Amino acid sequence: MQPIGCAAVTRLPVPAPHEKARPLAKGSVYPAKDLCSQCGLCDSRWVAYVKTSCAFLEQRFEAMESGAHGRSRDLDNDDELYFGVHQRMLMARLRQPIEGAQWTGIVSRIGVRALESGLVDAVLCVGQSDSDRFTPVPRLARTPEEVLSARVNKPTLSPNLEVLEQLPGSGIKRLLAIGVGCQIQALRAVQATLPLEELYVLGLPCVDNVSRKGLQTFLESTVSSPATVVHYEFMQDFRVHFRHSDGRTETVPFFGLDTPKLKDVFAPSCLSCFDYTNAGADLVVGYMGATFGRQWVTVRNPRGQQLLDLVEPELETAPVTSSGDRRAAVQQGIEAYDKALKLPLWLARLIGLVVERLGPKGLEYGRFSIDSHFTRNALWVRRHHPEKVEAHIPAFARTIVSRYRLPEA
Ligand code: FAD
Ligand code: SF4
Ligand code: SF4
Repeated sequence: MQPIGCAAVTRLPVPAPHEKARPLAKGSVYPAKDLCSQCGLCDSRWVAYVKTSCAFLEQRFEAMESGAHGRSRDLDNDDELYFGVHQRMLMARLRQPIEGAQWTGIVSRIGVRALESGLVDAVLCVGQSDSDRFTPVPRLARTPEEVLSARVNKPTLSPNLEVLEQLPGSGIKRLLAIGVGCQIQALRAVQATLPLEELYVLGLPCVDNVSRKGLQTFLESTVSSPATVVHYEFMQDFRVHFRHSDGRTETVPFFGLDTPKLKDVFAPSCLSCFDYTNAGADLVVGYMGATFGRQWVTVRNPRGQQLLDLVEPELETAPVTSSGDRRAAVQQGIEAYDKALKLPLWLARLIGLVVERLGPKGLEYGRFSIDSHFTRNALWVRRHHPEKVEAHIPAFARTIVSRYRLPEA
C-alpha cells in the first residue's frame, strides 16, 4: 500500500529553497522571537519557509494532520481529541531493554532496525556533546552504533532541523526523523521541498522543555546533587525520578516541586505549546498513557505501523487501560500553580501517596497531564501574548481548556 505521508510528498509541486537562502547567524533574533523553540529550521537554508512553517508563527494542525494521515482528528471522539489521529494505541516494552535508554529503548531499536533492514539511509537523532550530557547535538546517523549512542533524552531545546542543511549532496534519499512536536510541525511543513524520496517520522511526546540554563535552575532547586544527575523523568507515579552517576535513584514528588522558582524555568515556546502528543508523527512513543514501567505507543497511520512492524516481535505488548478520574485534581492543580504554592515535603509526599493510590492511571493519567499543561499554557498565552490567543490555540486545545475554570488573565 502507498503510505499516506509519501503520497502527500510526491504530489505537492513546491520548489526547493532558493539557492541563496542561508541559515540565520547563531545568536541572532529568530523570527518567532521569544517564542522560538530553537527547532533548528532557521539554522538551515529551509529558513526560506519559516513564515509558513514555524510552529510559533502559524499553527496549522488540521492541514498537517490531513497531509500526514489523510484526515484531521475527530474532535467528537474523546481519544482523538486528546491523543490525535490514530489507528492503534498500545502499551509495550522491549523484552531486552537497551541499557542507558530513557525507558526501554523502543525508539532507538526502531532506528537501528530501520537502518539494518534498509528501510532508510539515515536516522535524524540527538546525541550529546562531549563535555556535557545534557547539551544536545543533532545528527544524521548512518550506522546502528550512531543511533544507539544517541539513546536517552537530552531534556533541553534541541535544534534538530539544523541537520537538514547536510541533506543536499549527502546521498540520503530515505530518512527516519525522530523528534518532538515543534520540530515535527516545521519538518512536515517543508517536507515536500526536501531532497528525499521517503520520510518516516517517529515522534516523542514533549512538554515543559527548557534551555540548558533553565535545566540547571531546575536541577539545583530540585535534587540533592545536580552535578551527578545522568537521567530523569516525570513519571506516572507523580514523582520525578532522578538517576545519579553512581547508580543511585532519587525521587521527588511533583507536589513538592519549588513552583515559585520553577514557574519561569520552562522555555516560553513550551509555555505556549499545544503539541504535547506530537500530532504530525507517523508513530509516537512516550510513556504517559501507559501504566508505570511501560511505554505508550500511538500508531497514527500505515507508515507508523510500518515502523512498529520493525520491532513488534521484540516487544511485550498489552492493550491500553484507563482508570480513575483526573478532573478534580486538574482543577485544584490550576489554582495551586497559579498561586505558586510550595508545599512542605512531608505534605507533598503524603498527597503523592494518596494520588498514586487513588489517582488517574493509564490513558486517564495522559489526560491528566494534557489537561494540566493545556490549561496552564492557555493562561500563559492569554497573559503574555493576548494578540496570539485566537490564531495560536488550536481547536482541540480550546475544547479541552473549556472544561475547566481558569483564573483571570
Ligand atoms: P531512547 O531509545 O532512549 O531514545 C531517545 C530518543 O530521543 C533518541 O533517539 C534521541 O534522538 C531523542 N532525543 C533526545 N533528546 C531529544 C530532544 N531534546 N529533542 C528531540 N529528540 C530528542 N513522553 C511522555 O510520555 N510524556 C512527556 O511529557 C515527555 N516529555 C519529553 C520531553 C522531552 C524533551 C523528550 C526528549 C522526550 C519526552 N518524552 C515524553 C518521551 C519519553 O521521555 C521517551 O523519550 C520516549 O518514551 C522514548 O523512550 P525510549 O527509551 O524508547 O528512548
Ligand atoms: Fe525558526 Fe524553529 Fe525558532 Fe521558529 S522555532 S523561529 S522555525 S528556529
Ligand atoms: Fe517543542 Fe513543545 Fe516540546 Fe517545547 S514542549 S520543545 S515547544 S514540542
